Amino acid sequence: MESIKRNILLNPGPSTTTDTVKYAQVVPDICPREKEFQSIMKPMRDDLVRIVHGDTEEYTAVLFCGSGTICIDIALNSLLDEGKKALVINNGSYSDRACDVLKYYGMPLIELKQPINVPPSLAEIEAALKANPDVGYVYMTHHETGTGLLNPIREVGALAHKYNAFFITDTTSSYAMIPIDVNKDNVDFCMASAQKGIMGMTGLSYIIGKRSIIEKSKDFPKRSYYCNLYMQYEFFEKTGEMHFTPPVQTIYAAKQALKEYFEEGEAAKWERHKSVMAAIHRMEDEMGLKEAVDRKYQSGLVSAIRYPDDENFNFEKVHDYCYERGFTIYPGKIEKKGTFRLCALGAINEKDIAEFSKVLKAAFEEFDIKLPAKYNEE
Ligand SMILES: *Cc1c(COP(=O)(O)O)cnc(C)c1O
Repeated sequence: MESIKRNILLNPGPSTTTDTVKYAQVVPDICPREKEFQSIMKPMRDDLVRIVHGDTEEYTAVLFCGSGTICIDIALNSLLDEGKKALVINNGSYSDRACDVLKYYGMPLIELKQPINVPPSLAEIEAALKANPDVGYVYMTHHETGTGLLNPIREVGALAHKYNAFFITDTTSSYAMIPIDVNKDNVDFCMASAQKGIMGMTGLSYIIGKRSIIEKSKDFPKRSYYCNLYMQYEFFEKTGEMHFTPPVQTIYAAKQALKEYFEEGEAAKWERHKSVMAAIHRMEDEMGLKEAVDRKYQSGLVSAIRYPDDENFNFEKVHDYCYERGFTIYPGKIEKKGTFRLCALGAINEKDIAEFSKVLKAAFEEFDIKLPAKYNEE
């Protein structure tokens, strides 16, 4: 097996993958309606539930062909009963996206806006639930990938349940990285995409959630044909297949990625991601780079760095310099504020950051950007 040029992706997914995962896609052509293909989906669905410590009798994983946003769309549009409202905790660009989805469907939405750089107020969430006894589900992003802010799912899930609402959380950028336990964390539904935590390929996404609620949602209003959770679930249960054509090669890659996930192990993998972020933080400190979110509120997976107040700093130029040398850095997602992001997803380690650190420092030197980095106001 010839090794493939290794790029270090410091963007928030797709993440750097192993060659064994890349090569797993190279398989004989197969029709996905064959039993041979179906036989890899059932164990895959169970493995996806096991990653978040769910019981496969109680929880199930439903697969979809699409990027991560398809899961946001499906969970939100499929799980709201007639006469109920959605409560979204909005403190970042991904929860903003969830609000947009609900607005596109014309669904009743209570949008609880919260600051983007600190965890949300539990008191305000509880007050919103008290004031609105008709909330069907509470929705919150676990890890706001735009800023790197980590949200308290366990506490918010408990509040949702106290007021008889389901709890849905977007764990796309934390699943299979930050350990999650659906029982202890009070999660009814979570979701992710193969190109992030499990370090697979793009095109496969999944919702993991309670069977009892999915079954109940059979009678909820149907708002989409292609993007309906119950329809896909029922098809899987009856036939073991996706309703429509699955991303065949991506599924083979995901199978290999899951094997490698369990070989590395939940705890060791999380330690590795944390060690990568610790190396990123050390580099930032050496260079005097400042972040948008206090480290005590960060996920350990994304660091949003504020642009230095330096007339020579130009993100595009720094990006291109790093890219030409095999390192991909990523623009920020904070309105009106210049930030760029460095992420600890993927099959990378501390040594890669040590190499990257040399390249980033050289880029600053090349473009005459002051080190330590300059910031005006404090
Ligand atoms: C990556 C990501 C998604 C999905 O984004 P796509 O571009 O559709 O794959 C959703 N939520 C969060 C929090 C993410 O980080």
